[in-house]
Amino acid sequence: MAPVIGVTATLKQDLDSVATRPLGSFVRADLDYVSGVAQAGGVPVVLPPIADVAEEVAGSIDGLLLCGGSDLDPGYYDEEPLPELDVTLPERDAFEMALIGYALERGIPVFGICRGLQILNVALGGTLYQDLPSQLGNGSIAHRQQMPKWQWTHEVEVSGGSNVAKIMEVGGLRVNSYHHQAVKDLADGLVVSARASDGVVEAVESRNLSERWLVGVQWHAEAMRDHGHEHRNLFAAHVAAAERYAIREAAA
Ligand code: MN
Repeated sequence: MAPVIGVTATLKQDLDSVATRPLGSFVRADLDYVSGVAQAGGVPVVLPPIADVAEEVAGSIDGLLLCGGSDLDPGYYDEEPLPELDVTLPERDAFEMALIGYALERGIPVFGICRGLQILNVALGGTLYQDLPSQLGNGSIAHRQQMPKWQWTHEVEVSGGSNVAKIMEVGGLRVNSYHHQAVKDLADGLVVSARASDGVVEAVESRNLSERWLVGVQWHAEAMRDHGHEHRNLFAAHVAAAERYAIREAAA
């Protein structure tokens, strides 16, 4: 029984079509995420950001993959926007916040990547750095690389004994890094599983994965699947948890 994994999408304006027809907004998902799910044995389903149907969407999936993308509106953690804040997408933020709420209620396994880790932390009551270079200053390493997306740049130390360490089967690794935001105050329901050398949170997990399966990584694991089994292992562990959820649901 292959579990259905909901994959969050973004909205992009199709600039190529401006000359021929009015500017439209398009639902788009990066193929690396959906391929990662399929490679792990899940059935990926791209989720358009329509908040009105978030509850029904939660009822139709066995696992939730929160993808990377635009900055989260800092209003969700009661902050005013700093000048360094990037573009935000209100429809996407509203849909994902609602969907995470329903997913947590139902016990759906959630895997967050980059923005996905960040919004999961905020949905559980945590906060974010809106912009690492301006808020962390001199002590910060470069987290926003200009390189091929699969290419590793900075080191990450994985906490020994963490579930992420068990899943990835590594204690440390080098990862890609395409973010300028990060976890500031960690939500109560999460623990840190990995950090960069400047202390920036690079992975989180719930305290007990068998009770509540939540994992987030700050790097783009979906783009590194060809460059280390540890990244594929994350997708495989999520799909396996979703399969257990589907079996429980079918029996209930
Ligand atoms: Mn990083």
